[in-house]
Amino acid sequence: MMRILLVLLTALSLFAAPKTLDVRLIDVEGGKALLVMTPAGESLLIDAGWPAGNSREASTDRIVEDLKAAGLRQLDYLLISHYDLDHLGDVPRLVARFPVKHLVDHGPYTGDNAATQQRYGAYARLYERIPHIAVKAGDKLPLQGLDALVVTAAGKVITAPVNGGGAANPSCAANPRQAELPTDKEDNNSVGILFTLGKFRMLDLADLEAYKNYELACPNNLVGTVDVLQVNVHGQFKGMSPELVNALHPRVAMMGNGAKKGGDAPTWPLLRKTPDLEDIWQSHFSVNGGRENNPPEDFIANLEPDDHWKTLQLSASPDGTFTVTNGRNGFHKTYKPGEFR
Ligand SMILES: [Zn+2]
Repeated sequence: MMRILLVLLTALSLFAAPKTLDVRLIDVEGGKALLVMTPAGESLLIDAGWPAGNSREASTDRIVEDLKAAGLRQLDYLLISHYDLDHLGDVPRLVARFPVKHLVDHGPYTGDNAATQQRYGAYARLYERIPHIAVKAGDKLPLQGLDALVVTAAGKVITAPVNGGGAANPSCAANPRQAELPTDKEDNNSVGILFTLGKFRMLDLADLEAYKNYELACPNNLVGTVDVLQVNVHGQFKGMSPELVNALHPRVAMMGNGAKKGGDAPTWPLLRKTPDLEDIWQSHFSVNGGRENNPPEDFIANLEPDDHWKTLQLSASPDGTFTVTNGRNGFHKTYKPGEFR
């Protein structure tokens, strides 16, 4: 009798458990805050948006609002991809408002930007009371119910192919490696993650720039193909590499841009030229991009000048089916596996 009851309870709990990977691209005006919820109910927030300053409000309020809208009461992991201020945000303020169980990052800040050093110092003091994990390329995040492989961190990329990758990349010949930009070396320290749930794959390289993308793509594509690409560097062109995007050939690109941050005009033609790209979804209408480049309004969460902190939502199943929903108007589109490749 007891055994039957246990079997019944287990069956019921399996039935009740969410089976999807759910992602929310939170609007933080060209910073980053990407919420990932595993089918096992664990949560990971990648980045904390902006701190207050330079006439910009802190992103904390809108992030907390969105975490609550997602039904969360705590974050299992807060991952800071790198320490530029549009990602590091104000973590002490965030953790005071919303409990965080673990901090994840690429290790110490090594740059010399004074504002970043100060913010990083305040952030790193939280290690004293919140368990901290520094990851390196090749590590897996200890998430339940979702494979989350670190493919880049602290300036290093994986050295062996994953996800069926490893083949010579024909796009390398026409696209020589771009120069390393002297302006912001912290971008290339970004923690980049390949998420896999059954047949569904999503790549998020945060602010990895073209110079570093090349190491993942050439001469051999180390990361295989993906269904969804979270576009590097908010759609700024410095994050774009034809050799990588062609090799990934995503079906859907999601861009966490602001009205006037990210979304550089040459980014769309490059994305749209990749084989099999079906749609580009964006946090904002990009003023930089202009009408001719931006996708139809249904694929944009926040239209100018009416900015209401709307979120793009993605829900993916292990069979590879995924749906993207516009939090502004409920417009959604489902992408079924095998329909194009
Ligand atoms: Zn950024």
